[in-house]
Amino acid sequence: MRTIGLIGGMSWESSAVYYRLINEGVRDRLGALHSAKLLLWSAEFSEIAAHQTSGDWDRLGRTLADAAVDLERAGVDVLLICSNTMHKVAAQVAQSVSAPLINIVHVTADAITRAGYRRPLLLATAFTMNDPFYRDLMEDQGDIDVMLPDEDERRVIHRIIYDELCQGIITSESKQRCMEIVRRGQERGADSVIFGCTEIGLLVSQSDFALTVFDTTRLHAQAAVDYALASPLAGIE
Ligand code: GLU
Repeated sequence: MRTIGLIGGMSWESSAVYYRLINEGVRDRLGALHSAKLLLWSAEFSEIAAHQTSGDWDRLGRTLADAAVDLERAGVDVLLICSNTMHKVAAQVAQSVSAPLINIVHVTADAITRAGYRRPLLLATAFTMNDPFYRDLMEDQGDIDVMLPDEDERRVIHRIIYDELCQGIITSESKQRCMEIVRRGQERGADSVIFGCTEIGLLVSQSDFALTVFDTTRLHAQAAVDYALASPLAGIE
């Protein structure tokens, strides 16, 4: 089994979900007492958020690249950045190590394309929705035309993520807001929904929507399990 390295803490609320999903994924495949070989580097998220707000992406790139180097030295075979937003610096992180980085946008785009959808509504932080990096990465992967919520809705989603979900606050009011935003997206022509923030799944799930959901946290964690267990290294060592 290969060792997975998580660059997490962005926020830790979603890293905890990654930890559970990856271990459950390994147990589902290998059974009984099996669990993942995994190392977690976890950020102090208030520092990350402050640099995001001030636009210091170079510094954020260096911080995550250093984390990747530390994880590689500690023995990981593959790396994941447990945040969609922080994939803005994914190229810098990938270049700093020889272990492969599983890119959350590529994994999600692949799942959308394979399922035959092409007009997904993106729910994410303002950085992910407003900056073209995410849509460009996704649209490069296939015939996908990412749809955004309108400006007010984007502000609402961003606020819910930082002021609530990243702080462990889950409210039925925000859940309703989120469901309304998706309903409006569907009226405007969305054929599916991307949970493009690793905390969105803490608030809503597939059962809340008529549209098919692509939850980046779940897809990313599954890709890590697939990589960790891929032959010829699968099994017990
Ligand atoms: N985890 C979030 C994401 O997937 C937002 C927090 C962050 O900025 O990292 O984008």
